[in-house]
Amino acid sequence: MSWNSPSQSRRRFEAIVKSAYDGIISVGLDQRIRMMNDAAMAMFGVTSAAGPLLLETLLPVRFRARHLEYIHEFMASETASRPMQLRGAVIGLRADGTEFPLEVSIAKIQVGSDTEVVAVMRDISERVHMIQDLQIAATVDVLTQALNRRALMEAAQTEFSRSVRFGRAMSVLLFDIDYFKTVNDRFGHAAGDVILKSVVDRARTVLREVDLLGRWGGEEFVAILLELDEDGATRCAERLRQAVASTMFSLADGRAAVPITISVGIATRTEAVGTVDELLARADAAMYRAKNAGRNRISS
Ligand code: GH3
Ligand code: MG
Ligand code: MG
Repeated sequence: MSWNSPSQSRRRFEAIVKSAYDGIISVGLDQRIRMMNDAAMAMFGVTSAAGPLLLETLLPVRFRARHLEYIHEFMASETASRPMQLRGAVIGLRADGTEFPLEVSIAKIQVGSDTEVVAVMRDISERVHMIQDLQIAATVDVLTQALNRRALMEAAQTEFSRSVRFGRAMSVLLFDIDYFKTVNDRFGHAAGDVILKSVVDRARTVLREVDLLGRWGGEEFVAILLELDEDGATRCAERLRQAVASTMFSLADGRAAVPITISVGIATRTEAVGTVDELLARADAAMYRAKNAGRNRISS
């Protein structure tokens, strides 16, 4: 809607596009960019000196073919405008080679006898990073960086179902630090925290990349061992026990080096184990057998 003369109106539209906070580009059917406002140039790090660009130069190579297909499909459709969703955020490519997520809406416009596609774009890097941070905060235990209990349960459930469905082996280890209360009593809770973190770090060096490690509670942890049967899990448990027992855990200020041992319960999925809760309960019972047998040992 405009209430001025055509030339005034035109100047106003140009000024609006130029000053817009959102990036705006208009692309011809030949994929050449006909117009790119200041915000879009800043977003992609290009200058007008680069000359007329092809749309694909703003996209990572791996998305180019799919993107072209999408635009053709849009041009052939009845739809005049729509938000663009290529499986999640659209990824843009800056002139310096870095990539960033974008929110894009596109519309068809008629420029004389030509049809162009106008894209209005917003850099959503900040939002995407915030969501990633929140996802990490929701699934990771702050002190040890192991999975928290909820994330661990979810992963255990998923892996259990997969293991049943595909008939693959799966085992879990549940381990608890021996006499940890004494460590806290002797060195203080903060020192206990440092040791908890170090025990997890040490455990990780024994586990494989694919194994999942989570904090079950307090000083108890669960490792989910994919594709490992009872023999494999027993060997892993013993390596884990030895790795911890042979390490002197130092406190942050170097006040002391503390020997730590763990008791490890092993459980492997069999036909008799119907649910993941049952599998974990078996590992827990096995861990208590290891405790009762004198600690610093493994049990199934
Ligand atoms: P056991 O060999 O039977 O396992 O003896 P324990 O002393 O380890 O067992 P108990 O369950 O009696 O005590 C566990 C201790 O772990 C008590 C608690 O203060 C400590 N603990 C639990 N969570 C944390 C934590 O996040 N930080 C610290 N520093 N200590 C913790
Ligand atoms: Mg304990
Ligand atoms: Mg305990």
